[in-house]
Amino acid sequence: MSQQAKRRADLLLTNGTILTLSPGAELISSGALAITGGRIAALGTKANVEKFYAAEKTIDARGALIMPGLVNGHNHAAMTCYRGMADDLPLMEWLTRYIFPAESKSDENQIYWSTLLACAEMIRSGTTTFGDMYLFEEQVAQATRQAGMRAVVGEVLYNFPSPNYGPPENGLKYTEQLINRWQGDPLIQIAIEPHALYTCSPFLLRQCRDMADRYGVPLVIHLAETRSELEEVSMKYGQTPVKYMENLGLLSSSLIACHCVWLTEEEMDLLARRGVKVVHNPESNMKLASGVAPVPELLARGVTVGLGTDGCASNNNLDLFQEMDSAAKLHKVHRLDPTVMPAEVVLEMATLGGAKVLGLDKEIGSLEVGKKADVIILDLNRPHLQPIYNLASHLVYSATGADVRDVIIDGHLVMQDRKLLTIDEETVINKIQEIKEKIWQRVSP
Ligand SMILES: [Zn+2]
Repeated sequence: MSQQAKRRADLLLTNGTILTLSPGAELISSGALAITGGRIAALGTKANVEKFYAAEKTIDARGALIMPGLVNGHNHAAMTCYRGMADDLPLMEWLTRYIFPAESKSDENQIYWSTLLACAEMIRSGTTTFGDMYLFEEQVAQATRQAGMRAVVGEVLYNFPSPNYGPPENGLKYTEQLINRWQGDPLIQIAIEPHALYTCSPFLLRQCRDMADRYGVPLVIHLAETRSELEEVSMKYGQTPVKYMENLGLLSSSLIACHCVWLTEEEMDLLARRGVKVVHNPESNMKLASGVAPVPELLARGVTVGLGTDGCASNNNLDLFQEMDSAAKLHKVHRLDPTVMPAEVVLEMATLGGAKVLGLDKEIGSLEVGKKADVIILDLNRPHLQPIYNLASHLVYSATGADVRDVIIDGHLVMQDRKLLTIDEETVINKIQEIKEKIWQRVSP
């Protein structure tokens, strides 16, 4: 075929090893991937793809791995501004002495810049999509859009006043405005996000369910996270958290339940039957001493499970490579069984599993022709990644976010050779230092 007859691609990634992570697909060595109009137009061997495609811009991925961007299923991105502010404290002291006073006076400026800091950290560590629950989500959405990242975001709803929307009854109105304002956006989707059973009344929870049904959007909640939640809900409503959700009519395939640490066998069956999606946050569960979620048991029942970092204050980073390592090892030591949670399973949770949780698996989560081009390139020519027997093993147990070299989201290059193209890091870091001073005044004695 002559040069003239070749199809034009916006971007061509070539010479790399391609791990598509689409079910049943083989590893492609010396591969190429063509991107047109934000989507994957072709992928295969370099010879096959370059025969048909010529590109405006080419990235040489020699010695590197081309794979899907990671999906962080549960985050509170703007909590990056509290990173390291208070650690190693009992949960209630941590919340009431530091986090709540700091959050009560947060504002649009703080949330915008803290989210941009989170996006910089996530892009640098290979995350291309995240689920978010926090305050001032309009600013979260705007910062995420500026960064060029993909996200499912929702305003946190509860039965006490919010520093953003004021009295509780305004929360759903604010959420409805978000849904209308961001409708049709290529990167941002809105979810309805009641905080938890111990902060939301049954009336508010039913309202949330009705609005999620009306708009066909996901419902996100923290569920069965701690033993104290289990005790409080059992005492107040005479039922365990999952049973209580069932009786309120909230267990469905549109529900994204974060944590799910304290579950009985019967409740796991119920979650599977209702098609509830679960996000596992192992590092947050370890750091806050919440417990160990029964993830192998949920997966065995066919429950869709994604991986999340949770907020930065309970982690304290947003690197999903580290989270994968923790997820695999936590369950092995907890069960004294090195065969549980193998690398391939954990890697799927951080990619296609997370995409399924967020309802985006038709568009992202694996590299397939026609899907959105959310792609990361990792440098494999590094001492801690050699030699290579098994790539999934390396990605879970050896790699870190710092190995990510280039990041493409929705077909756009957002990091090249570790330089961020959508975020001015120096400005973000300066703004965050100013914000930190204000926060410290709120919480210091
Ligand atoms: Zn959370």
